Amino acid sequence: LPLPAPRRIKALAQDVVNKIAAGEIIVAPEHALKELIENAVDAGSTSLEVVIKEGGLKLLQITDNGHGIDKEDLAILCERFTTSKLKAFEDLSSIGTYGFRGEALASISHIAHLSVTTRTKESSCAWRAQYSDGKLVSPKPGQSAEPKPIAGRGGTQITVEDLFYNVPSRRRAFRSASEEYAKILDMVARYAVHCAGVSFTCKKHGSSTADISVPTAAGTLDRIRQIHKATVANELVTLNTENERWGFKCEGWISNANHSAKRTTLLLFINHRSVESSVIKKAIEQTYATFLPKGGRPFVYLNLEIEPARVDVNVHPTKREVHFLNEDEIIAIICDEIRNSLSKVDTSRSFMTQS
Ligand code: ADP
Ligand code: MG
Repeated sequence: LPLPAPRRIKALAQDVVNKIAAGEIIVAPEHALKELIENAVDAGSTSLEVVIKEGGLKLLQITDNGHGIDKEDLAILCERFTTSKLKAFEDLSSIGTYGFRGEALASISHIAHLSVTTRTKESSCAWRAQYSDGKLVSPKPGQSAEPKPIAGRGGTQITVEDLFYNVPSRRRAFRSASEEYAKILDMVARYAVHCAGVSFTCKKHGSSTADISVPTAAGTLDRIRQIHKATVANELVTLNTENERWGFKCEGWISNANHSAKRTTLLLFINHRSVESSVIKKAIEQTYATFLPKGGRPFVYLNLEIEPARVDVNVHPTKREVHFLNEDEIIAIICDEIRNSLSKVDTSRSFMTQS
């Protein structure tokens, strides 16, 4: 058979490239929400309200009381690689804030209708702006795309509507709004436990009751009690360990041997970013296996802080995957601490049953 003629190579149109890149960062509504929560926390907010319609596919709205965005910055807010958090490549190793690549809002603006209402302390009014494909757009034909002054309180409200409206294949992949809402609640719950000093609410649009609600003043254990119920909270003990050699500090709340669930709940924060780690999860489950009935699983919340220079946060745009130096050694120390704690709790329990 004759070889087929080679097809000519052509550059993809820029809007196609942008949509592909955005779809890699924001795979599901929960990922957009995670970025928005991290931005709000970065802005020093002490109050965070989330409203959701149709599992976040119709509406994702987050209102904070943070420092707001300068009116002059609104024009470039949603451009790719615009950020207030990183100036030089070297800053990557000492970065203390959640976001740093300036990609989140840009990505969202390529795959959803994005609008922002924001007010800084210095501003006499709030400003409202609407975005599409990284740029300011006018809300109605014939109107100006420039930010409009409106009444509003200090802080920022970000509204994301019709996520993936222009990526039909992705949009079709979501079969159940309630499944997406459950994932959103899980994400909000993680940050609501972790972010001491910040109040959180999350509810469905039009509903008068919040599905998650924690007040600003609640301590970590109270936060866990509100969200994961007293049956879990009553069986938790603190975990505290640090190690200079491996440059880390770890604190958290872990269930004792009285608590045994069907599945592991692992709330894992590395340098204040919610991350997944199947390696850490597996090590923890193995540690608990000798203390729990067969098939029993623990509840573990870990706030792990590692010297920024040892963490490679730059591995993937989604930043869900975090790698750090001496993973094995650090995990071993944490699991030793868990083991110590479980043995201790065992003895105190036998004391308590005597009284
Ligand atoms: P990054 O967080 O990586 O800087 P983003 O696209 O998430 O990138 O945000 C871009 C910039 O917009 C941030 O650096 C910040 O200055 C500003 N910003 C975003 N969300 C908020 C918010 N809720 N409050 C104040 N500023 C915000
Ligand atoms: Mg960000």
